[in-house]
Amino acid sequence: MFDSLQDNLKGAFKTLRGKGKLTEANMREGLKMVEQSLLEADVSYDVVKEFMHGITKEALGEKVMLALEPSEQFIGLVNQELINLLGPVEDGLNLSKDINIIMMCGLQGAGKTTTCGKLAKLLMRQKVKPMLVAADLQRPAAIDQLHVIGEQVGVEVYSDRDNKDPVQVCRDAVAKAKADGCQVVILDTAGRLAIDEELMEQLKTIDRDVQPDHVFLVVDGMTGQDAVRSAGAFHEALELNGVVMTKLDGDTRGGALLSVKHVTGVPIRFIGVGEHLDDLEFFRPEGMAGRILGQGDVVGLFEEASKLVDEDEQKRMQESLEKGQFTMDDFRNHMQKIAKPGLMMKMMGMLPGMGQMKDMMAQVNQEEQAGQIKKMVGIIDSMTAAERKDPSIVDARRRQRIASGAGSGAQQVNELLKQYDMMKGMMTGMAGMGAGDRMQKMQE
Ligand code: GDP
Repeated sequence: MFDSLQDNLKGAFKTLRGKGKLTEANMREGLKMVEQSLLEADVSYDVVKEFMHGITKEALGEKVMLALEPSEQFIGLVNQELINLLGPVEDGLNLSKDINIIMMCGLQGAGKTTTCGKLAKLLMRQKVKPMLVAADLQRPAAIDQLHVIGEQVGVEVYSDRDNKDPVQVCRDAVAKAKADGCQVVILDTAGRLAIDEELMEQLKTIDRDVQPDHVFLVVDGMTGQDAVRSAGAFHEALELNGVVMTKLDGDTRGGALLSVKHVTGVPIRFIGVGEHLDDLEFFRPEGMAGRILGQGDVVGLFEEASKLVDEDEQKRMQESLEKGQFTMDDFRNHMQKIAKPGLMMKMMGMLPGMGQMKDMMAQVNQEEQAGQIKKMVGIIDSMTAAERKDPSIVDARRRQRIASGAGSGAQQVNELLKQYDMMKGMMTGMAGMGAGDRMQKMQE
């Protein structure tokens, strides 16, 4: 995500790092580079101006200049300014009513229908029962698309192909959702290729009549400043509660993400990071600033990891970790879960200090990464139950047997055992801690 912005900022910090004493001249040089990085990332000019105004005063202040590690302080300032720019954002989603209505709007192709499905899936993971509503009556294909997505997610989809009035469809859907015990209704409204009066009128009527608790606009992050402009226009008509920015997994420069809150006043609430229905994340300014600056996003990493295991497995894992156990089978399960192309890269981007590793991994193609993991799983599979229970019994003879069973070399078996030991140490070391300590540990 935002690779070139990250690289450019890294360059700016490098000019300051290692300089024992900072002068106003080299601090200004660092600031100039930060400014350049933001402009190149397509951040709105006004936003850059204000951003720079904020940090320049602080960076040239005595506190930073006299600090023992001024370059660290400088990164801290940029971090804080990014957080200010992106936030504040309410934590989670307020769903305190018996039935909560979420209205999703957006231009065609922004990713609205996909996001409706992703949001339903995210809510189901939180044990909330959602219903999807096909309120886009412009295109018959839109209704079919929502049904397909609903089936994939395993969630009820309400549609009424005979009804041409979207407001009535939404009202009927809410009544049905109440009867079916759903807590959230997600309205997939009509989109257009461009903003027009008719569309806005329709959305305003739904808004007035159905009175949604949340109105979210889905914008395509790849469209840069156009995404910011459409957010502004929709907000004028509808008073949005938040923006969902999609396609941030692609080759986006990041400018729209950094500008939208400042320009429109509407915070980003979710980000779409892939085509898969699991690829929606709550937006957290702190996490995003950490990712942009290569300092990791530990909370995001935990959330991502917890999507991979079901609840029973999480519970079982927690229990065995609390007993100080992390078996070879646990290790195998973990490996298998992340053996999906692209997934490792995504998780690595959230780990603090993993920037370099990520660059290295990027050289290897994604299929190959997944292939490596499959090989490791193969090695574990050719171990006997006794060896899996106590890997310390693996001597040279056993190692050779395991290697030939898995079609790999003794060296690879050794590597695997080493990685298992490392992971075991990390996992069992973290097991006794509370969640807060665990995060602290991950950041060290
Ligand atoms: P709608 O017209 O706004 O309802 O858009 P769709 O939901 O049909 O999405 C348009 C295209 O964008 C589809 O091919 C989606 O798979 C794709 N898409 C949606 N969100 C994302 C995302 O976060 N990342 C990527 N890479 N593609 C996305």
